[in-house]
Amino acid sequence: MTSNNDWLNRSKQAVWHPCTQMKRHETLPLVPIAKGEGAWLIDFDGNRYLDAVSSWWVNLFGHCNPRINDAIKQQLDTLEHVILAGFTQQPVVELSERLAELTGLGHAFYGSDGASATEIALKMSFHYWRNLGLTEKTGFISLKNSYHGETLGALSVTDVALFRDTYAPLLRQSHQVMSPDWRLAEPGESREDYAERCAQSLADYLEVHHAHTAALIVEPLVQGAAGMGMYHPVYLQRARELCDRYQVHLIADEIAVGFGRTGTMFAHEQAGIKPDFLCLSKGITGGYLPLSVVLTTDVVYQAFYHVDVTRGFLHSHSYTGNALACRAALAVLDIFRDEDVIESNRTRAAWFSALMEPIYRHPKAQYFRHTGMIWALDVVTERPDFANRCFQQAMAQGVLLRPMGKSLYFMPPYVVDGEEVSLFVSTTLSILDAE
Ligand SMILES: *Cc1c(COP(=O)(O)O)cnc(C)c1O
Repeated sequence: MTSNNDWLNRSKQAVWHPCTQMKRHETLPLVPIAKGEGAWLIDFDGNRYLDAVSSWWVNLFGHCNPRINDAIKQQLDTLEHVILAGFTQQPVVELSERLAELTGLGHAFYGSDGASATEIALKMSFHYWRNLGLTEKTGFISLKNSYHGETLGALSVTDVALFRDTYAPLLRQSHQVMSPDWRLAEPGESREDYAERCAQSLADYLEVHHAHTAALIVEPLVQGAAGMGMYHPVYLQRARELCDRYQVHLIADEIAVGFGRTGTMFAHEQAGIKPDFLCLSKGITGGYLPLSVVLTTDVVYQAFYHVDVTRGFLHSHSYTGNALACRAALAVLDIFRDEDVIESNRTRAAWFSALMEPIYRHPKAQYFRHTGMIWALDVVTERPDFANRCFQQAMAQGVLLRPMGKSLYFMPPYVVDGEEVSLFVSTTLSILDAE
């Protein structure tokens, strides 16, 4: 029998782990996971951890979900993958049709990771304007504290200093506008009024710079990497109006918030708007396989449709439209349909919010916030090592929490029950009490 220790030592030798100063693992042990079961992760020594972060926001219906497992197994014995340039296959066609039905965006371009979806949307937007002869429209706007991925193009519109500053000399300039995250509102200012004020500052920028701007990219309703910053949907309405007025694309990066996370299938629905580009990934395969997609409109698609090869979108990834990943995504959409997930999540979210009341009332909890299946709070703490301590304290109680700075959040797979939510609540209360 191998134990946790064997695997963590071998991993430290051979695996360079993401988003990690590896020296940190001299004191903080890696956690080798042997298997997954619903909302739980189990290590090689048999310890169980509630996956309260959905394995970096990707898992929707639990680990080793029988329906998704079956779908992938069937596809595996039929066709695992085929080049998508010049060829097509059943899962990619069906998935594109069903995503078009759900979003009203009828053209699907596939990538593998979220960051590649961001790259695709930025390049398509720029190329669209170029195909129209508007070659000056090369600029991008994003929100303060935005996160859109970490490849160079995506990092150019990402505003997280820790990820960005080191690579700044490699990045294209982009412009950041006020974030509507309501934690930044003035005392006494309503969330809606603050969102309107932010929209006004976007209007001021666009009025001057629209001729040189290709697109505005936003994370609709929730800025994930900003520590689950949440905002009023009126901002998206205003952004849509302004983008229309000034001939600027609106890119909705729903890589984290798509697929029911905010309480509707897609977050932008809550503003009653349609983006020009919709980026999806993470939950799209239920957290099984890397797949991303950019959905766009007929108008955009037609601007590339031409006898001239270079007016086409000459972009590709080797695993574009991978059949196994698309099959997993179709199984995810089947679960949404057959189990009426959006509706049942609505009931469950209200119940879970009620269970969280003791957190909300705790004197060390600030800005308690909730959208759909995401709950977050900022912890009043002076400790610079809060995030590390909190992670370790929670793991000791059997809960995987991964705070961002002082922001602690609960973003579980949709299969959690009341008992599991109560475990999150008691763990969080003990963390708050220790501050
Ligand atoms: C995670 C994330 C990305 C990047 O996706 P990767 O698959 O990690 O490249 C982009 N945008 C948002 C909003 C995300 O949360």
